[in-house]
Amino acid sequence: CGGTVTAEETKLVMGTVARLVVRADEITSQAALRDGMAVLAQTERDADGEALAAVEAAAGTGEWREISPALYDTLNLAQEIAHRSDGAFDVTAGTLTQLWERARTEKMPPPAEAVMEARVHVGYEALELRTMEETGQTKYEARLMKAGMKFDRGALIKGLALDGIRNSWQSADVTDALADLGTSSILGMGVNEEGAPWQIGIRNPRGVERSDLLSVVPLSNEVLSSSGDDERFFMYEGRRWHHLIDPRTGYPAQTGLASVTVVLPMDVEEGAWQGHMGALSDMLSTAIFVLGAEEGKKLLADFPDARLILIDTDGKRIGE
Ligand code: ADP
Ligand code: MG
Ligand code: MG
Repeated sequence: CGGTVTAEETKLVMGTVARLVVRADEITSQAALRDGMAVLAQTERDADGEALAAVEAAAGTGEWREISPALYDTLNLAQEIAHRSDGAFDVTAGTLTQLWERARTEKMPPPAEAVMEARVHVGYEALELRTMEETGQTKYEARLMKAGMKFDRGALIKGLALDGIRNSWQSADVTDALADLGTSSILGMGVNEEGAPWQIGIRNPRGVERSDLLSVVPLSNEVLSSSGDDERFFMYEGRRWHHLIDPRTGYPAQTGLASVTVVLPMDVEEGAWQGHMGALSDMLSTAIFVLGAEEGKKLLADFPDARLILIDTDGKRIGE
């Protein structure tokens, strides 16, 4: 039984650079890297899954489609945050977010009529979930009540992947490790090589270089998710048009925030969020960005161990 090594692997997955670091004995750490990368690949495959496409294809018909228990869980959590954020976070925002994705490639905002048209096909209240008991087995089903509705799981998929990695690593008795999904969502377990919490730099969204940091956050047995208007955007007529869309207006959210970082315990002992704290942090960062500082903070009231780092559009940290 050898001593502790620090094993590290970097890979392009989920459209980002994923970096996994594991501190354990040689065999454990290599297995943990392999398992972690496998979780990322699997989460990505599930994301473009046929089940979601089948639900979308049946949108507006009133027909139910079967989905996996895991997908059912995920959509349930998304619905919970949609309720709590009054629709600022909406997993059915796909039609709108795709419109703005096209706008980014053209570097021009879509015409107002197109935005209004897309908005019609968005609305978490029109996503229904149910379980059915059938010959002693539970079936999980979903339907979209309006035609043309589309899912966008981009705002929770990385957090979801971190939950899978944490679960896998904890079962393998890994205690000290880091999973960094392109700095957008990060899991920090235990301590780093110095025996201290992992140190995560918070980028200045108005910085000249990506290495321009506003602060450094310690992360120990916690998950961190960020949403910023500097990740995907274009400039048009002196304005920044970014990828965090307020479903209620159809336009990029303008609340004076440039970046939101939410830090939560990596897991909790019980309750609906057990096993899902990564997904929760990811959804909350997006929801808070869209809601703005004041309304956003209220969302955190139920999560007393949460930490929040807000940066305004001048690149200044709020509330210090
Ligand atoms: P990342 O940090 O990986 O960019 P975020 O958590 O910041 O991810 O969320 C961005 C993703 O969320 C994109 O896929 C975007 O299309 C989607 N999105 C944008 N606005 C909303 C919204 N109001 N509700 C749900 N998803 C959204
Ligand atoms: Mg993010
Ligand atoms: Mg998010």
